[in-house]
Amino acid sequence: MTERNVISIVDQRDSLRPPLPLTASGAAATAGTPLLDRLARPLRDLRISVTDRCNFRCSYCMPKEVFDRDYKFLPHSDLLSFEEMTRMARLFAAQGVRKIRLTGGEPLLRKNLELLIGMLAELRTPDGQALDLTLTTNGSVLARKARALKDAGLRRVTVSLDAMDDAIFRRMNDVDFPVADVLGGIAAAHEAGLGPIKVNMVVKRGTNDHEIVPMARHFRDTLGGAVSLRFIEYMDVGATNGWRMDEVLPSDEVRRRIAAEFPLVPVGADAPGETAERWAYADGRGEVGFISSVTKAFCGDCNRARLSTEGQLYLCLFGERGYDLRSLLRGVRPADGQPFSDADIAASIDLIWRGRSDRYSQLRSLLPPAEAGAKRRVEMSYIGG
Ligand code: SAM
Ligand code: SF4
Ligand code: SF4
Repeated sequence: MTERNVISIVDQRDSLRPPLPLTASGAAATAGTPLLDRLARPLRDLRISVTDRCNFRCSYCMPKEVFDRDYKFLPHSDLLSFEEMTRMARLFAAQGVRKIRLTGGEPLLRKNLELLIGMLAELRTPDGQALDLTLTTNGSVLARKARALKDAGLRRVTVSLDAMDDAIFRRMNDVDFPVADVLGGIAAAHEAGLGPIKVNMVVKRGTNDHEIVPMARHFRDTLGGAVSLRFIEYMDVGATNGWRMDEVLPSDEVRRRIAAEFPLVPVGADAPGETAERWAYADGRGEVGFISSVTKAFCGDCNRARLSTEGQLYLCLFGERGYDLRSLLRGVRPADGQPFSDADIAASIDLIWRGRSDRYSQLRSLLPPAEAGAKRRVEMSYIGG
């Protein structure tokens, strides 16, 4: 990353937050009707960021020039405790959430994460189902932790890996971390039964696009095709990565390059809200997915909410502001000085989701580039991917 590419950081964490729409009548007004946002999208998926710290400095996410020695990460007292996260997760599950993904920063850096996983694994949906509990990781300490994560109740993992070539990967993570250790983590996750495993590769034109076919080849030939490789279009998240449209390689082009080597056939979507377009190898050796957040926006059925490490609820990856749920977890009702009850917090979540109309990726192409670039956006390492 050159100096020229770095846009100075705007610290979103102190920005003005919208007032919480907490009212007693709010709960009554919406009780009994299905929870849909203003574009009729249900709430199904909650991503919880468990730390804002990371041991990598991927230039598209936490460029070294910004996330340096002087960068002020959140103090521990600002982070939600495991009890607070579990309480939020329980309330979200009661509102329709079926899937919880732990993310960050690097989630495996949060101490004793297995305890949180154990607590979340106990939760049930209103119809008695366990939640689909998963985690996105850079894989750096997965080899050591896979078994304990599985034993605690984690179902599966997604591992990020941007190249097979060691030199390119070391450059992209910018901390000289070797590919072999991430591959060891993927193998350990497979061994522990944390499947189906997904591997995410962010494609940046001119940086790692020549790694597309080697990555496809490697994962077709590994672990019996059990790993599904997904190619993510490089996104304009946050305010620090110096994103440029000419560095985005459209998924259609990625797919053409793979299909030229290994013929592909389309696979239907798993479930509404599925982010990846799935294709199988015609010879039956597994499948690949394409997450086209830039060229084919999938806001139409986006059912995801994101809870930041300090308990701010974001309704979109490109959100400018979060709703401060931590103030409900830790504060008291002005009326009687009592802690907010589960019903109070549930009423807030209900009202917030019903008011949601976010669809940034759909609108991106309609905004003049200067305006899209000027939006104050939260960092991905703060709310998670
Ligand atoms: N540290 C973990 C990891 O890398 O898997 C979890 C957090 S990371 C923010 C979650 C995902 O976001 C990763 O797969 C990462 O590659 C992706 N990501 C980060 N910045 C991105 C960007 N600018 N465009 C597309 N994907 C990005
Ligand atoms: Fe860390 Fe993940 Fe961001 Fe890379 S993408 S800097 S591993 S949080
Ligand atoms: Fe969902 Fe926002 Fe991404 Fe659209 S841009 S898919 S609304 S997170």
